[in-house]
Amino acid sequence: FKIPPVSNEPMLSYAPGSPERAGLQAALAEMQSQLPFEVPCIINGQEVRTNNIQKQPMPHDHARHLCTFHEGSPELVEKAIAGALQAKDAWETMPWNDRAAIFLKAADLASGKYRYKLMAATMLGQGKNTWQAEIDAAAELADFFRFGVSYVEELYAQQPPKNAPGCWNRTEYRPLEGFVLAVSPFNFTAIGGNLPGSPALVGNVVVWKPAPAATYSNYLVFKILAEAGVPPGVIQFIPGGAEIVQAAIQSPNFASLHFTGSTNVFKSLWKDISSNLDKYKVYPRIVGETGGKNWHVIHKSAEVRNAVLQSVRGAFEYQGQKCSALSRLYVSRSVWENGFKTQYLEEIAKIKVGPCLDWNNYMGPVIGRRAYDNITGFIKKAKEEGGEVLIGGSGDDSKGFFIQPTVILTKDPRSTTMVGEIFGPVVTAYVFEDSDYEKTLELIDKTSIYGLTGAIFASERQALLTATNRLRNAAGNIYYNEKCTGAVVGQQPFGGARGSGTNDKAGSISIFYRFVSARSIKENF
Ligand code: GLU
Repeated sequence: FKIPPVSNEPMLSYAPGSPERAGLQAALAEMQSQLPFEVPCIINGQEVRTNNIQKQPMPHDHARHLCTFHEGSPELVEKAIAGALQAKDAWETMPWNDRAAIFLKAADLASGKYRYKLMAATMLGQGKNTWQAEIDAAAELADFFRFGVSYVEELYAQQPPKNAPGCWNRTEYRPLEGFVLAVSPFNFTAIGGNLPGSPALVGNVVVWKPAPAATYSNYLVFKILAEAGVPPGVIQFIPGGAEIVQAAIQSPNFASLHFTGSTNVFKSLWKDISSNLDKYKVYPRIVGETGGKNWHVIHKSAEVRNAVLQSVRGAFEYQGQKCSALSRLYVSRSVWENGFKTQYLEEIAKIKVGPCLDWNNYMGPVIGRRAYDNITGFIKKAKEEGGEVLIGGSGDDSKGFFIQPTVILTKDPRSTTMVGEIFGPVVTAYVFEDSDYEKTLELIDKTSIYGLTGAIFASERQALLTATNRLRNAAGNIYYNEKCTGAVVGQQPFGGARGSGTNDKAGSISIFYRFVSARSIKENF
């Protein structure tokens, strides 16, 4: 049989008076009238209440919380691993079409029946506005599941090209021996679904620890997977912190880490895993997408208006809290002086910052106290180092964690905000002489500790090509004349190298190779 053809989930407009606007509004009202929710751990399909209660505050109104959750413990992790290993045999031997059907159904539930509820949870809990929630919790989540199914079908179909006469060679793609640990981030509900979902799709069992700041939306994703038919024990849902991860990597059955989050946490986990290596049955597959310090380079031939608008969106959508967000802006002097600077600041001045529930707010809050302090700390440091704040630079954390969209102009391409990951609505701009384009490309490459995304703006094709060649390793995703965010599943496989991760490309077939262990069988007749 063949899987039905898949396509990207269409995005809705939420125009005033549209049915989707009414649907979302109703979901938001209902959720607000019921909160706070209570989220248990789910082990072997059973709710477990540890009574170690944590809260998920709402970033736009931090005195209130969206949910309380029962934080898992090391003992619970042990129980979860044992249960997952018990569920493993039936799951991995389940016919592929049955596993595929579960994920196709989960995609339909996420983008259909639960669309507005998932979006409401993402808006209230993670501070997204409607359209950012739509891209994430409605569309990308469904895309990950649907395209995942079609990639796995393609993977399973791959066979050795040659058979000698009288012999049949075949390759099986078995799941890993042991369990996969999925550690997902706050910033995309879709990634919350993808990190446990992709390994499970190829027959693995998974212990999933979502980010505390995305607990409720991720819990809803878990419930959708269960409703779609993922059997008890196949994905174990354990909210909480580092303790859970540490407990999981002690297990001899630990087989893989599927991680999205900060570079520092990933590095330290990799070291911890290495020091446990003798305990494990298999060499663990370590798959991570981590930080970014993403750039736009604007060549003298760039179309100014487009470069301006794309540089607004790349930097400030979702408050700059995408791993892919624009953070360093290199602009050719003639473009900067002939319209870019003025228009860029004019456009940014129009941005409204406030609670994500108000449809007019382009930007909402940053995720929490630590993020707020970290981002405002970066702004302070930039000023101390002689950076000029062209716009923004301030915040207000009295009710929610709001920070104004900020542009800093620097003369020092190695200044703190030009190289450090901020993960907030702050762009540092550096103006270069028109004749220094190639020198600037070299500078970008040298100062790129990360290598996630970048965009080149030029109408001269040669300028695009030169930058693409010179910046060979400074981004895993490159865009021509378009912002450096917004990779679409199935269209732009996403991920970066250097400090940005193992570049295994979410939203493509390549990620699935990491969660299978191939076996070749030769049979003579
Ligand atoms: N895939 C998203 C994008 O291209 C970013 C994902 C992330 O922040 O990890 O914008």
